[in-house]
Amino acid sequence: MPGFWCRGDCKAHSLDECGALGELSRRTRSDHRSRHRRPFGDLACDETGEFLGRHFFGLDSFDLEALAGIADALRRQVVGDEVTYVVTRNINFTNVCYTGCRFCAFAQRRTDADAYTLSLQQIGDRAEEAWDAGATEVCMQGGIHPDLPGTAYFDIAAEVKRRRPGLHVHAFSPMEVMNGASRTGVPIREWLVRAKEAGVNSLPGTAAEILDDDVRWVLTKGKLPASVWIEVITTAHELGLPTSATMMYGHVDTPAHWVGHLRVIRSIQERTGGFTEFVLLPFIHSNAPIYLAGLARPGPTRRENRAVHALSRLMLHGAIDSIQCSWVKLGDDLCRDVLQGGANDLGGTLMEETISRMAGADHGSYKTISQLRAIAEPIGRPMRQRTTTYGDVSAERRAAAAATDGVCASVLAPGGRPPGNPPLMGGNPPPHAPLGPPAGATAR
Ligand code: SF4
Repeated sequence: MPGFWCRGDCKAHSLDECGALGELSRRTRSDHRSRHRRPFGDLACDETGEFLGRHFFGLDSFDLEALAGIADALRRQVVGDEVTYVVTRNINFTNVCYTGCRFCAFAQRRTDADAYTLSLQQIGDRAEEAWDAGATEVCMQGGIHPDLPGTAYFDIAAEVKRRRPGLHVHAFSPMEVMNGASRTGVPIREWLVRAKEAGVNSLPGTAAEILDDDVRWVLTKGKLPASVWIEVITTAHELGLPTSATMMYGHVDTPAHWVGHLRVIRSIQERTGGFTEFVLLPFIHSNAPIYLAGLARPGPTRRENRAVHALSRLMLHGAIDSIQCSWVKLGDDLCRDVLQGGANDLGGTLMEETISRMAGADHGSYKTISQLRAIAEPIGRPMRQRTTTYGDVSAERRAAAAATDGVCASVLAPGGRPPGNPPLMGGNPPPHAPLGPPAGATAR
C-alpha cells in the first residue's frame, strides 16, 4: 500500500487498512504541529506499517497519550463502555510436551517430577465443576504429548459434552490441530470436521505468537509455520468454527512485526469473518528459556503494552470489534490502562490458569467476578458477562455464576488448586494426583 504517509506533507492516500489511521495521522500531525512545531513529514515512510513501526520506536509520552486517546474513543464508538468477560475454566489436560518452544515454561518431560496428564474422568469432573459454578465455557489446551493419539482430542471434547452438554467447548490450538491431523493421517479439514462432530465449538487462536517466520524460527524453531497457522484458522472458519486471534509480543519482536501481524489478522478476518476477538499476550519472561539464555528481552514495557493495545484497536477497526487484555499477564493496573486505550474485554475467570503462572506471571490463577469488577469499576466502566461468541448469557447461567462468584469451590479451597492440578514450577507433585494418559491413549 504505497504512499499512505509520504515524506513531506503526510497526506493520506488510502485508508485501506483502517479509517481510524487517517484520524490518527490527522490528530498526531496536528498536535505535533501545535505543540512541537514539527510535522511528521520528516519521517521517511512509504506505508502505514513502516510508519507506525518506526514511529513506535520513538514514542514520547505525548504521542502515546494521543494514540491511546484515539483508540479509547474508537472503542467507545464501536462497543460502548461495557467491559465484558466470560465465566470459563481452563483445563490444561497435560503438560507433557517435547516440542521445545523456547518461550515455554509449561512443558515437562514424561519423567519430570511436575509432569501430569489428566484422565478423561478428571477432565469430565472439572467440566462438571465448572458448569455447576456457572461457567458457559471450558477452554482446553495441552502439551503435544507424544503418547496421545490424534483421536484423543475427540475423546476429550466428547467427554465434556457427555457430562455437561451446555458447555461451550473452546479447545485445541492450531498446533494441536496440526498434531492431531498428522497423527491420525487425515487432512486438517477432515480432522476439524471430526472435532466439531465430537463437540468442539470454537478454537483458541493461540500458537500465533508473531506471524512472521523469521521470528517464529527464533521462538519455536519453526514448529508451526505462519502459513499452517493461517491454514488451520481459515479452515476452521470455513467450517463454521469461530476462533480467537492472538499475538504474543515483547520478546525478540519489533513494532514493525506487530504491524505485520495485525495486517495478517485483518486480512484473514476480511476473508472469513471468523475471529471473535483479538487477544494480546505480553511475553512472560521470568522462567522462559529464551530469556534465560539471554536471547529475548524481559517482556514488553508498560509503554509498549499501552501502544500495542491501542494500535490493535486502530488497525483492526471495522474488522474485529473486541480487543481483549490479559489480566493474567498484565495485572490489574495495566489492565485499567489498556481498557482506557482501546481494549474492551477482560477475558474470563479462568479458574485454573497454569501456563502463564509457570512462566513467572504472579497475578493469580483465577479471578472471581467480583475481582474482575474491581478492575473495571474504578475507571467507571460497567461489566457484562458474555458467552464465548459475545452473546448474552442466560438468566440461569448468570444466576449460577453469581452464586459462586464465577469460580468453582475446589479452586477456592485451601491450597488454591484442586486435586491433580499441576503444582507451581519447582513444587512437589500432589501425592494424590492420578497421573497417566487419558483413557484411550496408547503408548507409541
Ligand atoms: S508452547 Fe505448547 S507446544 Fe510449545 S513447548 Fe509449550 S506446551 Fe509444547
